[in-house]
Amino acid sequence: MDKRTVLVTGAGIGIGRAAALAFGANGDHVVVTDVLEAEGRAVAEAIRAAGGSAEFQPLNVRSTEDADALVADLNARFGSIDVIVANAGIALRVPMSEMTDEKWHETLDVDLYGMMRVIRPALPAMKAGASIICLSSIMGTAYGWDEHVHYSTAKSGVIGMIRGLAVEYAGRGIRVNGVAPGYIRTAQLLNPGHSLGPDAADIASPYIPMGRLGDPEEIASVIRFLASSDASYLTGQVVTVDGGLTPG
Ligand code: NAD
Repeated sequence: MDKRTVLVTGAGIGIGRAAALAFGANGDHVVVTDVLEAEGRAVAEAIRAAGGSAEFQPLNVRSTEDADALVADLNARFGSIDVIVANAGIALRVPMSEMTDEKWHETLDVDLYGMMRVIRPALPAMKAGASIICLSSIMGTAYGWDEHVHYSTAKSGVIGMIRGLAVEYAGRGIRVNGVAPGYIRTAQLLNPGHSLGPDAADIASPYIPMGRLGDPEEIASVIRFLASSDASYLTGQVVTVDGGLTPG
């Protein structure tokens, strides 16, 4: 496979980090972006140390101006972006009884609008064969959990965006797909105040047919497949990767 330019948002830790490392091992040039600068630089350095090609670029997906500027810079240097992994996301627990406009907006702004902000400026230059992968969630497909109404709303919106973009850009040979992870062992799931918290494995494992949380690498491998020519006739789909928890 030719060296592609791959942009990953939220790639300093978790699923984004695993995806960046997977594309790096694949021989692609990986543009590692995050608000976490030290973590993002470390990922780019790890890819280069392993003989791959990578750079770190700070990016807060809440900024249209910064997303536009980064994409313009990448287009100027590489011609176009070949793969976008729209991954950056937050999942703060908020009971609906305590929901404010600000908290609701924050989650939709990062988890839904933030994906659009990197995809929108990149599309005009993207070439046939290019691919976009967005991170949804089982909470956007088939599942609910207490105190996640805002998150489910954003992740359902991501699926609508995937389906709409896939149809609108199929004629140009640009594929758009998503992954809906179940419970994956990352900060978003495990940190106090986030998603399930430190006891996530104990809480969730009894309901998961495979009996365990997933690892970020088990999502990254699916992302890498969706971006590959092995998935050349696959567009507008959301692949559920959850150890059998939901029907997808
Ligand atoms: P994580 O918390 O480990 O990583 C999220 C990354 O997004 C971090 O690097 C963080 O700095 C970055 N980020 C947050 N806000 C940002 C912003 N405004 N601008 C740029 N970057 C920002 O979480 P993760 O589990 O790796 O999640 C990755 C994606 O997968 C998210 O979209 C998440 O909703 C989705 N997901 C995760 C799970 C899970 O169980 N972990 C399940 C379903 C879906």
